[in-house]
Amino acid sequence: MKPTHHVIISGGVSAVFALWAQSWGAVVACFLSGIFIDLDHHLDYFIFKKELPLSYKKLVHFLRHEHRSKLFLFLHSYEVLVLIWGAIFLLGLDLVWIGIAIGFTTHILCDEAFNPISPRGYFLTYRAKNRFARKVFFKKGHHDETAED
Ligand SMILES: [Zn+2]
Repeated sequence: MKPTHHVIISGGVSAVFALWAQSWGAVVACFLSGIFIDLDHHLDYFIFKKELPLSYKKLVHFLRHEHRSKLFLFLHSYEVLVLIWGAIFLLGLDLVWIGIAIGFTTHILCDEAFNPISPRGYFLTYRAKNRFARKVFFKKGHHDETAED
């Protein structure tokens, strides 16, 4: 999904969350986490290119066409989601963490629904087992074109 789509969806989810949470900090955390999970794409770019992706066009080109690179995407992971929600319930973390978890969950579910991702693609353990190869992340036939998710 494109960043603008994540901004719109995260804004809507945060507005609904605000009705319940009534905490500006939690609502801002929800909004920002729903967008900035995608910073892990920047980390993948940096690991491969040894430079910061200072242009969005360069980042998109990397995501779509740099077949030699690996996709670590440490934040696009169901395991991280389980850790966050587990910590909230087990440790009684506050509303800011619930906001982060809601934004994070919304982002992952939207990416999963609208991007050509393999059903197991967002399992970090599955990607690690396959040495973070691009081809295990995308559905067959889509590994050369990814969205700007
Ligand atoms: Zn994403």
